Amino acid sequence: MDLNLQELNATEFPVPAELESNIAITSLSQLYNWGRRNSMWPMLFGLACCAIEMIATASSRFDFSRFGFEVMRATPRQADLMIVSGTVTKKMVVPIVRLYNQMPEPKYVLAMGACASGGGPFKEGYNVVSGMDKYLPVDVYVPGCPPTPQALLYGMIALQRKIDGQSIANGDDVPWYGVGSAEPTPVPVLGPDIIDPRQMDMIRRQAERAANDMAALGMRELPAAMQMVAAKAPTATAAPVEAAPVDGNALAFVLPAGGRPWEEAEDIREKRRLRALARKAVRASRRASAEEE
Ligand code: SF4
Repeated sequence: MDLNLQELNATEFPVPAELESNIAITSLSQLYNWGRRNSMWPMLFGLACCAIEMIATASSRFDFSRFGFEVMRATPRQADLMIVSGTVTKKMVVPIVRLYNQMPEPKYVLAMGACASGGGPFKEGYNVVSGMDKYLPVDVYVPGCPPTPQALLYGMIALQRKIDGQSIANGDDVPWYGVGSAEPTPVPVLGPDIIDPRQMDMIRRQAERAANDMAALGMRELPAAMQMVAAKAPTATAAPVEAAPVDGNALAFVLPAGGRPWEEAEDIREKRRLRALARKAVRASRRASAEEE
């Protein structure tokens, strides 16, 4: 990239016209931002159809190298920018957050397309998250389904403008210069439905409320996990399970029959295993008799 000192010359001190190509009077923030904005390295990964447009943006016709997004890096440790290009499934959000945590500061996130910005056509689908910003701090959103390469370039330039506005004199702008290591973004837990550990308290409170309300209807309506939560919650109604505290903050719950929930789960698994073995034996005997005939 050509060095254009006039880009940096933004002070009230006059520079003689004949020296403008040789001398720049500037601030440290501006020099720092100028270096960062012109050497953003995006991480090399794509998720769905939007990724095709991202690839087109990197190729010769649009060529985002012209703007300093020079090389896409195949490792998070050498990347400054995460372009989330495509549909983010609940399964995929876990490695995405983990990769984000592995990127060094300063780092930025660009949500490309309707899916990454808010779920897109799959919003509230059983397997899709409703926007990457639920899990990562998104700096720029590029709308469209899919956005064109021009739109992505515009979003990248918007990110450069955002970087231009940051100042190393303002701690909020450059938190990575703070004392101590940065807090990693919590990696969501992949379960029956994805859980953000930051929302654990809220989820627990909501589960307790739901359990209390449903206790009046009868605990048989609740799954075993909810029964445990209900037993923990202070309630006037008689709880059909009792809580027995064990080491630390953990609680062990005993079902009325004397068993524990995980033992019950093991029991169910064992029954399933036996049923599967029985079906397998029936199939094998049918096959054997067919071969004899
Ligand atoms: S926004 Fe549209 S083009 Fe992009 S990943 Fe979603 S469905 Fe595909």
